[in-house]
Amino acid sequence: MQISLDKQVALVTGASSGLGAAAAKALAAAGAAVVVNYNSHAEPAERLVAEIREAGGKAIAVGADVSKEDDVERLFAATIDTYGALDILVANSGLQRDAATVDMTLADWNKVIEVNLTGQFLCARAALRQFQKQGPRSWLSRAAGKIIHMSSVHQLIPWAGHVNYAASKGGIDLLMRSIAQEVGEQRIRVNSIAPGAIRTAINEENTQGDAEKKLLELIPYGRVGEVDDVANAVVWLASDLSDYVHGTTLFIDGGMSLYPGFRNNG
Ligand code: NAD
Repeated sequence: MQISLDKQVALVTGASSGLGAAAAKALAAAGAAVVVNYNSHAEPAERLVAEIREAGGKAIAVGADVSKEDDVERLFAATIDTYGALDILVANSGLQRDAATVDMTLADWNKVIEVNLTGQFLCARAALRQFQKQGPRSWLSRAAGKIIHMSSVHQLIPWAGHVNYAASKGGIDLLMRSIAQEVGEQRIRVNSIAPGAIRTAINEENTQGDAEKKLLELIPYGRVGEVDDVANAVVWLASDLSDYVHGTTLFIDGGMSLYPGFRNNG
């Protein structure tokens, strides 16, 4: 079955690398015009835009720090200026600042919460305002807008040494479900994706050599995830094929959240 997002407009935050870049490419390949948001490095975002255009797709790159209200307003304004509407938001930006709790600085706590949680709130709020303003675009999609939050298995699995990150992702779960409850009647669809271990820059050290072998003990399906495992799900969640999927977190983790430590009788 072919998924078409033809003439829809998708905004992907943190799209100059990793899961965001793969999602942007996959959405463009499905026909959406894509806004590739980046934080500080324009070149990889511009390279991705060129790649999408060479493949016949539509894309622009827009720099914005998702934790800053003014930047987010500017990002959405640039999207509407260029493409006239918004149909899909993938709130993907995220980072880690790891330390044992006793050593964690307030600055590192705040940074992770600001980008991973406040950033997703600001982007979701801006998307909802735009969806409400433009009204349903029923010739393109049954939903009057779709939001996909990038969470993590750590919205569920506690993570020692990463309390800021786990708290931010736990926050996304109730942020997403509360928004979904609030706007469902408007036919705006809101869901999350919770990746397990996917090979990207964020976990480079843990997905190679001996570290990879150790990591595989946590993955019943027996392999580390690739970015397209997540990008394919983004396209599906953005499409009408998932029109009755609302307020749900889709775990894409090779079974990491199945408590694999209990495989051999605990
Ligand atoms: P990544 O580091 O390649 O991507 C993160 C992106 O967020 C980068 O492009 C970065 O520039 C951007 N970003 C950081 N701060 C920003 C800011 N203030 N404003 C705008 N953009 C900002 O890593 P990734 O693995 O692709 O991560 C993408 C998302 O997936 C994150 O939310 C991460 O928590 C989540 N995730 C990843 C994994 C994994 O295994 N890779 C697992 C679970 C969840």
